Amino acid sequence: MADSNPETIYDVAVIGGGPAGYTAAIRGAEYGLKVALIDASPKLGGTCLHVGCIPTKTLLFNAELWDYLKEAEEFGIKGVESRALDWAAVLARKNAVIAKHVKGLEFLMKKHKIAVFSGFGRATGPAQNGVHTVDVDASGVKSQVKAKNVMLATGSEAKLLPGLKADDRILTNIEILSLAAPPKSLIVIGAGAVGVEFASIFRSFGTEVTILEFLPRMVPVEDEEISKELARVFRKRGIETQTGAKVEKVERTADGVRVSYTDANGNPQVKEAEKVLVAVGRGPLTKDIGLEKTKVELDRGSVKVNEVQETAEPGVFAIGDIVAGLPQLAHVGAMSGIVAMAKIAGRKYRPVRKDRIPSCTYTEPQIGSAGLTEVQAKEKGFEVKVGKFPFAGNSKATIVDSHDGFVKVVADAKYGEILGVHIIGPQATELIAEAVAVMELEGTVDELMFTIHAHPTLSEARLGGDGEVAGMAIHA
Ligand SMILES: Cc1cc2nc3c(=O)[nH]c(=O)nc-3n(C[C@H](O)[C@H](O)[C@H](O)COP(=O)(O)OP(=O)(O)OC[C@H]3O[C@@H](n4cnc5c(N)ncnc54)[C@H](O)[C@@H]3O)c2cc1C
Repeated sequence: MADSNPETIYDVAVIGGGPAGYTAAIRGAEYGLKVALIDASPKLGGTCLHVGCIPTKTLLFNAELWDYLKEAEEFGIKGVESRALDWAAVLARKNAVIAKHVKGLEFLMKKHKIAVFSGFGRATGPAQNGVHTVDVDASGVKSQVKAKNVMLATGSEAKLLPGLKADDRILTNIEILSLAAPPKSLIVIGAGAVGVEFASIFRSFGTEVTILEFLPRMVPVEDEEISKELARVFRKRGIETQTGAKVEKVERTADGVRVSYTDANGNPQVKEAEKVLVAVGRGPLTKDIGLEKTKVELDRGSVKVNEVQETAEPGVFAIGDIVAGLPQLAHVGAMSGIVAMAKIAGRKYRPVRKDRIPSCTYTEPQIGSAGLTEVQAKEKGFEVKVGKFPFAGNSKATIVDSHDGFVKVVADAKYGEILGVHIIGPQATELIAEAVAVMELEGTVDELMFTIHAHPTLSEARLGGDGEVAGMAIHA
């Protein structure tokens, strides 16, 4: 509930109630700060909850169940041959998951006595006598929020190719989440996490999917061997992947879309489909939020900050997807908010460590990675030792019938410190958590090799990767 007294001076006004903003607001309240949270949308949660992490992972779970049902007989389960997909029910469940968590956030705001303002927030310039003023516009109804500090957390939006506008056939992550039915065919432009996750979902539901990626490999931020394995498994699943493809034009046809592009050999190509998803990255939402009246510095639209998320304008912080040089991930946004709030509250903090961020792609097969890739570690001058363990050698992977993929551990040859872990395969997005914890504690391969992992678990495959660094995995 917003404080109706316009003279109230908050300790912090957070603009944007996505995972960065709402996490920061809660942590601020836990520190005993008086916090206001302003969001342009009437429902908190941002991209992540409404059109990002949560709906996609819900649909990916549906897709996983559906894929298992296709193999039901192999598991001795009969009677599901006549299975049918009720897409409306699939979407209804996705919406119910979102609604449940919107309610959860509303509860948390009340519990922590955070004043929530619904409306578009704009900075008005530097603080006057130590107090910032944020204009709030709720569909024409204007008010102001006064605070000693301002935290910008306005997030990002899908980039489109020049001249394109999203509609019922040219889709971004927003439109594709409410399609009336899975399309017969889909072209996905961009093989980053968003592109490959939607490719994975719709392929499971029978869509003919083609991915066009400009760079030479799929999931280009991942270790090269991960990219290769994903391309291999996607091909096996019937997903066409074209890398080195430069899209020139996207146009609507009588009943679908046509994409013209130059392929990796420099030949012009044309591909038609029912729909096209443009997943070429996300741009920061920093226009029209009053930054021109401040000293806040931008780098191609993203906000420049120091190690505690402070901008060049005293008392103004920036967190989440709008921050220059920070991976656009919900958990990174949340942590950047926690760091900034600790700084404001005068509590102990540690800056976000960019080399210890789990990066997860929830495709089939899943990808979980953290730290340096093999190439990056070598470029940094490390003498590198690599261990690789295939899920084919793991009994739990056999039990769950998921043998594609591997664990790759990149370690420093001298001290055995783990520099990076790259997993593709079953539950990779869960398995990576252990790797991050070990890296956080600067653990070594030797220490891990004497750490007992339960049997039969997929985490034994992760351990196998460590063993292989020393050339001593038991099941390889
Ligand atoms: C399809 C898809 C899948 C994704 N999956 C994952 C995933 O699995 N895991 C992961 O970690 N990340 C994922 N992401 C990325 C993740 O969604 C973002 O990193 C995260 O939402 C960023 O959080 P944020 O708080 O910075 O911004 P946002 O979540 O974008 O929230 C910004 C908020 O600010 C509000 N706002 C904007 N301007 C104003 C203003 N002027 N005044 C008031 N309010 C304003 C908006 O209404 C919004 O609520 C995914 C993204 C997409 C698109």
